[in-house]
Amino acid sequence: TTRQLIVSEKLAAIGEITAGVAHEINNPIAVMQGNLEVVRQVMGERAEEARTEFRLLDEQIHRISQIVTKLLQFAKPEEYAGFLERHAPADVISDTLPLVQHLLNKSEIVVERDDRASRLVLMNRTELQQVLVNLIVNAIHAMSDGGTLSLRSHDSDLDGKPGVLIEVADTGVGMSAKMLSKVFDPFFTTKRQEGTGLGLSISQTLISRQGGKISAESEEGVGTRFTIWLPEAS
Ligand code: ADP
Repeated sequence: TTRQLIVSEKLAAIGEITAGVAHEINNPIAVMQGNLEVVRQVMGERAEEARTEFRLLDEQIHRISQIVTKLLQFAKPEEYAGFLERHAPADVISDTLPLVQHLLNKSEIVVERDDRASRLVLMNRTELQQVLVNLIVNAIHAMSDGGTLSLRSHDSDLDGKPGVLIEVADTGVGMSAKMLSKVFDPFFTTKRQEGTGLGLSISQTLISRQGGKISAESEEGVGTRFTIWLPEAS
C-alpha cells in the first residue's frame, strides 16, 4: 500500500542518514581512545590517582562505540550479514545464557527451559545469539523485582512450512497494547539513558532475512512473550 511505501522510504532515508552519522562518529571515537591511552602513559604512575575517571572514560567511550555499531547494523544490515550454518536451537540457547549470566546473577530470576525442537534452523550463529541476548536482556529489565524467564523451543509449521519456534517469555511488567504495537519500531525505547530502541528492530531484520518471523504478545502487569519462528534448514 501507499502507506507501507512511505514508511519503507522513510526507513530507507533514516538508514542512510544514520549510517552517515555513525561513520562520522567512529573517527572521533578512535581519536579519543588513542589519546586516552597516550594520557595514561604520559601520566605513568600518577594515572593511578585518576583510576576511577579513566575507567569511566573507557566505559563511556566503549558504550558510544557499541551504540554506533548498533546504528550501523541497523542502517546497513547487509554489510553485517554473517555466514549461515545449521543449528539446533537448544544449542544456541545454551551458548547464549553465559553471555547474560552476570545479569541473571544480580537478579532474582528463575530460568526455565524446555527444549523440544528436533529440527535444525539455518542461521548465522552470532546473529541468532544477538537476537536472543536482546530478548533476554529486555526480559531481565522487565523483571527488576524477579520472576521467571522461560526459554522454550519446539518444532512448528507456519503456513504449511516446517520450522521451529523459539519462545522467550517473562513474568515482568508487560506492555500496553499501544506500546506493544511500537516495540519493533526503530528508536522506540522506554529506557531513557540505557536504551537505543534498536534491539528489537535489528532482531526483526535479522530474523526476517532468514525467512523467519518474530512476534510479541504482552499483558500489562503479567508479562511478555516473544516468539521467533525460523524455517527448518533443508
Ligand atoms: P531498548 O531495549 O534499547 O529500549 P528494544 O528495541 O530492545 O530497545 O526494546 C524497545 C522497548 O520495548 C523497550 O524500551 C521496552 O519498553 C519494550 N520492551 C521490550 N521487551 C520488553 C519486555 N520483555 N517487557 C516489557 N517491555 C519490553
